[in-house]
Amino acid sequence: MKNMLNCYYHMLQIKAEITENTELFAQTYYQLSLKVGEISRLAKPGQFVHLRVNQKTVPLLRRPFSIHSVGEKNLQILYKVIGKGTEILAQRKKGEFLDMIGPSGNGYKLPDGKVKVVLVAGGIGVASLYFLAEELTRRSLPFVVLIGGKSREDILCRDKFKKLNVDVMVSTEDGTSGRKGLVTDLLQELLPTPHSQLPIVVYACGPTEMFKETARIARKYAVPCYLSLEKIIACGVGACQGCVINTKDGYQRVCKDGPVFDSEQIIW
Ligand SMILES: Cc1cc2nc3c(=O)[nH]c(=O)nc-3n(C[C@H](O)[C@H](O)[C@H](O)COP(=O)(O)OP(=O)(O)OC[C@H]3O[C@@H](n4cnc5c(N)ncnc54)[C@H](O)[C@@H]3O)c2cc1C
Repeated sequence: MKNMLNCYYHMLQIKAEITENTELFAQTYYQLSLKVGEISRLAKPGQFVHLRVNQKTVPLLRRPFSIHSVGEKNLQILYKVIGKGTEILAQRKKGEFLDMIGPSGNGYKLPDGKVKVVLVAGGIGVASLYFLAEELTRRSLPFVVLIGGKSREDILCRDKFKKLNVDVMVSTEDGTSGRKGLVTDLLQELLPTPHSQLPIVVYACGPTEMFKETARIARKYAVPCYLSLEKIIACGVGACQGCVINTKDGYQRVCKDGPVFDSEQIIW
């Protein structure tokens, strides 16, 4: 109950001014910056914002986007155009306003004590893991980043991660960048020989099949693993139960109890 009240208490609804909406690649990937006032101070890695892409009745529902990074009074999201809502979002201009609720969701449970962290990103999953990487850097926790995508253009943020002075390993399914194969192949190779005496913790964000394989590998090596799940979210405040998943603790709402879950809790 305390958790629930805390969450509601910290969630705000604002009109956020767009300060940048930049195309990163071929009308597919964009970075959006918004003036959000206090929300930037409240935001934690792994949380998301729930945006109305316009003020019309279509699309009616808000769209959830992970918080990619925060500044003093602004935040960024990184998004991929996949349907009507994101198409409209890509047309929105600097100086316009978006109705936003946030920060929403539980966020990543940060490691206690000294551990080595492995971040596993599939495609646009890098969006939330970059904010986590910034926090790990702030806490001087060592980490490595594995980024996978279908092709070279799906590998986002490689240089941004490198600027944090960490090892970044890349894989693509067609071999146009990094190792040919899946990002989970990189994880499978890394975990048995992590080059570190520290205990390992894995955090992952990406598509469902990647989650299942990441969870399987983490279990094989008895490594804690946290997954930031993506489901279609309707109300975004835990009321409609439209985004439930099955877990060992019963049904849980991705928007409210998640989006981050311990992989061992999830019933796939
Ligand atoms: C907690 C959370 C954080 C997210 N963070 C990001 C982010 O940082 N960047 C980003 O680009 N996207 C993110 N997403 C996904 C994003 O919300 C969807 O891509 C967006 O809502 C699609 O809206 P649309 O109207 O363009 O597509 P729609 O027209 O609604 O859908 C197009 C197609 O995509 C499928 N789809 C839509 N939403 C999802 C979803 N959430 N999961 C799986 N399939 C979906 C639909 O079933 C349909 O087939 C996040 C989702 C969640 C739940």
